[in-house]
Amino acid sequence: GRPVCECNTCYAGVDCSVPVPDCPADADSGDPLYLEPYWRRNVAAGAVVVSPWHRMSYQANGNYFISLELERHIRLLHDAVGNAVTRDRSVVFGAGSTQLINSAVHALSLDSGSNASSFIPSLVVATPPYYALYKRQTLLLDSSEYRWEGSTANWVNLSAPPGAKFIEFVTSPNNPDGRLKQSVLGSSLVINDHAYYWPLYSAIPAPADEDLMIFTDSKVSGHAGSRFGWALVKDEKVYQKMIQYMQVNTMGASRDTQLRVLKLLKVILAKVGTEGDIFKYGYEMLSERWRMLNNIISSSKRFSLQNLSPQYCTYFQRIRDPSPAYAWLKCEQEEDADCEAVLREAGIISRSGKVFEAEGYYTRLSLLKTQDDFNQLLMKMEALVSKEKLLS
Ligand code: PMP
Repeated sequence: GRPVCECNTCYAGVDCSVPVPDCPADADSGDPLYLEPYWRRNVAAGAVVVSPWHRMSYQANGNYFISLELERHIRLLHDAVGNAVTRDRSVVFGAGSTQLINSAVHALSLDSGSNASSFIPSLVVATPPYYALYKRQTLLLDSSEYRWEGSTANWVNLSAPPGAKFIEFVTSPNNPDGRLKQSVLGSSLVINDHAYYWPLYSAIPAPADEDLMIFTDSKVSGHAGSRFGWALVKDEKVYQKMIQYMQVNTMGASRDTQLRVLKLLKVILAKVGTEGDIFKYGYEMLSERWRMLNNIISSSKRFSLQNLSPQYCTYFQRIRDPSPAYAWLKCEQEEDADCEAVLREAGIISRSGKVFEAEGYYTRLSLLKTQDDFNQLLMKMEALVSKEKLLS
């Protein structure tokens, strides 16, 4: 059995099989630990041993911060998966996609030939429910170049004030609701966040082909702690500004991280289409979790989940079931206006819809965590729904 110290917080005993009473189910964060067992199966192939003298330099190759070998493998991965066009695009690396988000806002703000004397800040917008970091980061790194302007709903059918332009975040599939999304303001410069555009979480109907696309290793191999993301950038001027931002901000992504991610992507690539395919593994796990949660919620009148349909996927070459990263749970009754609190009362920690600038009737449940976390969530959800049926 496993040593006691390795048990999830909700389990005890020598083999971690004894549930700890009254332990809450934590379904808050998007920590992708559901992929940990995959890497436990691929220990030898995915391990990295680094000599102490290796990669000491600021430079990864010549006078450059970016490993060309890793860049090449990122292009190979997109080609193999068919989720993005890499042709005619340059690649920027960041410390997670988190760092690339502001680098993109900065670069797009300065784009389009505005001259300094009459410079008007760009208006940064997103469509609720949206990933809260866009707002939090844009407000934190407050700059004269741009300003957080909130929901696109305030601007649909209106043009930007004279001289200003919109920078619109489009997350597809969306965090929190897993839907494929497109820009809603026709005239905006768009940052397409494709963190979840992998067969793990979504059908891949066609390769994404936008001007500025952001991806993250956190949601591909699952190594969120390595902090590695990349952007595919079409416009040369925007690319140069993003590279400058990285140079001034951190001098580029950690060379150790680049080395580790290269190894992980090589394993993923070598197994595409085989029995050990990470996309098949993750898809099967998440679609099963989604199915089990739906099973419970479908017998409830008090709660509902977002409606996602099976869709044709070019990667699996068949119609596949939904396998979203998150459940976007809705409390249907008027008195449950704070759905996050309703769940908290029942021992389930979730992320309130208000965080995503949506109504409090919604709350987000992560399906990406460990099997223990997920089992705990199912158990608590089942108890909550049975209580509802007893009372009705
Ligand atoms: N974009 C979206 C939509 C996300 O959900 C996340 C993480 N949950 C990120 C970006 C940031 O991820 P990271 O910095 O680990 O790449």
